[in-house]
Amino acid sequence: SDGKAQREIPFAQPGSLTKVYAIASGKGGVGKSSVTVNLALALAGQGLKVGVVDADIYGHSVPAMLGVADQRPTQVDDLIMPVPTASGVSVISIGMLKPRRDQVVAWRGPMLDRALVQMLADVYWGDLDALLLDLPPGTGDIAISLGQHLPGAEVVVVTTPQEAAAEVAERAGTMASMMHQRVVGVVENMSYLPCPHCAADGTDHRLEIFGSGGGARVAETLSQRFGYDVPVLGEIPLDTSLREGGDVGKPIVDADPTAPGAVALTAIATRL
Ligand code: ADP
Repeated sequence: SDGKAQREIPFAQPGSLTKVYAIASGKGGVGKSSVTVNLALALAGQGLKVGVVDADIYGHSVPAMLGVADQRPTQVDDLIMPVPTASGVSVISIGMLKPRRDQVVAWRGPMLDRALVQMLADVYWGDLDALLLDLPPGTGDIAISLGQHLPGAEVVVVTTPQEAAAEVAERAGTMASMMHQRVVGVVENMSYLPCPHCAADGTDHRLEIFGSGGGARVAETLSQRFGYDVPVLGEIPLDTSLREGGDVGKPIVDADPTAPGAVALTAIATRL
């Protein structure tokens, strides 16, 4: 120990008014980070003060998606100031804690735990209404650490319609429950492609590129397993605009709010 008392995590205190949502998935590439940043913006759009913690050690793509990839947090005394974004949410990323951006760090359990606590306790978040955490995919060390430090966090499970994705998503949900966290719902992403030809003549034909039923399956399984209702919070269609928004650092919920993906994400935010 360096003799300094470890600062407490404000969100873990009994009187905390901040809702903490951990966004989890069974595997990578299902859109967990895209969902996290867009839900954050949608909540901010409701007038809430929102912070985002990027705890995805494998990806840490959140800063780029929010347009602050090149920024580093500043420090005031021994507090870290989160990076403000154009959309009004503040963000800290596990990638920002590394000395150099291109550095590859083999994060191990205790280091990950320390990094997570640092992002929660040593960052000056102010009075947040909501804090969203982008977890790494799977059921690894970060998920366990979060469960230990913030058992009050509510978990949102993201999956695609595919059987294989749903199965691993169920495991991520079960893990959260073992850590005494409540799973508040399931988001099915990449649910379908609205057929562009049918859109022109007003019919609503959906191309189910990744199959169907994954979200409902995860919701049903977890509801049965936990003995409380785990709803499907919404289905997000495949949307080029959503991908582009992520690539250029302007999330679709703000940049293109009438796009199908943005409409779905904004509706999901009202159900949190
Ligand atoms: P994860 O965090 O689960 O690894 P990402 O959010 O990084 O996934 O998404 C993976 C890729 O898929 C990104 O390029 C993202 O822009 C894209 N993507 C995610 N959801 C959608 C969607 N509904 N429509 C189109 N592209 C999407």
